Amino acid sequence: MDLDLLEQTLAQHGQPRFRAGQVWSWAARGAGGYEQMTNLPASLREALARELPFSSLTLRSEARSRDGTVKALFATHDGRPLEAVLMRYRDAPPGRPHDGARHDGRRQAGRRSICLSSQSGCPLTCAFCATGAMRFARNLTASEILDQALHFRRVEESARRDLPSRQSNCNGALQAPITHCVFMGMGEPLLNLENVLAACERLPQIGVTHRRTTISTVGWVPGIEALAEQDMPLRLALSLHAADDALRSQLMPVNERFPLAEVLEACRAFYARRRRRVFVEYVMLAGVNDRYEQALALARLLRAERERRSIFKVNLIPYNPTASGSFRGSTRESIAAFRAALESRGVPATVRLTRGRDIDAACGQLAASGGAA
Ligand code: SAH
Repeated sequence: MDLDLLEQTLAQHGQPRFRAGQVWSWAARGAGGYEQMTNLPASLREALARELPFSSLTLRSEARSRDGTVKALFATHDGRPLEAVLMRYRDAPPGRPHDGARHDGRRQAGRRSICLSSQSGCPLTCAFCATGAMRFARNLTASEILDQALHFRRVEESARRDLPSRQSNCNGALQAPITHCVFMGMGEPLLNLENVLAACERLPQIGVTHRRTTISTVGWVPGIEALAEQDMPLRLALSLHAADDALRSQLMPVNERFPLAEVLEACRAFYARRRRRVFVEYVMLAGVNDRYEQALALARLLRAERERRSIFKVNLIPYNPTASGSFRGSTRESIAAFRAALESRGVPATVRLTRGRDIDAACGQLAASGGAA
């Protein structure tokens, strides 16, 4: 919901300040509407239902994948399209345990991650990305970002209610319905940092801690520097995709403005300040960036001899086909060989699981088709 409008509406009704907190805490716990907020006077609940839309986003359509992934297409009040995705994992992904396990001791089973958009469309035109091909509309407000998360919080809340209690309540402890959040939907989060951070401040109330929240960037250097200086222990991910400037500029025009050396220096400074490993995203494009020598070049770039352990961890992303169709994904074998080459040079690497491909919800496929392409 629009949290500024909520405060205004409550003030117009002469309500005490704590009411806004009450309303928010119901929403954060997955309430479906004002009528469920039983500690508010009935007349106020009715007034809110009349005057303040429960969400700042309208759900236009929702697609459900066979693997449990849910993609939602929303429109803002001014008709701008955006998409967000919920990924459910029954078991641990193959490879290393996911990072959250170290912090909360929770079992891997039942990890649920949301992928949020920070902008409608994107002003950066990465050659392989579907969002980059659609028109950029605008930055999303903090409330519009949170409403994506609240939507999936409600989806999970109703799924939980439909389950027999035995299944929804493993080990006797109710699991947080959503455990992880990544800003890997539409847009460049570091071009909308203020609103992204304002949304992040409230994510823990929805169940997602800052340590399990990842902000992914094309390498917008001033944004990386600002992220290093703010207080929340958020995770940084860098979309790299090439280990030399010429190729990276072809794939990601933003590299002309912030070339590799500058971007990596900013990431190293982030690590020095925050002591949190930086994830490197690397989308595997057949014949473009997936050769053995390119893996070695990437390892050289990421792993300085003097570093005791790698401060970068690489996620190899299988390419997901988009409408433009100008790239082909690398084979499983070349992805495995690329990974082995990185690991042999001391750079940890995992292969990202592809989720929701059958509903165009996989990495880089968010383009609000039919909305505004
Ligand atoms: N602008 C941010 C966040 C959005 S993109 C960023 O670039 O990091 C999230 C991730 O999906 C990025 O790593 C992006 O490079 C990757 N991606 C984009 N298109 C893709 C595609 N078609 N297949 C696989 N990954 C893709």
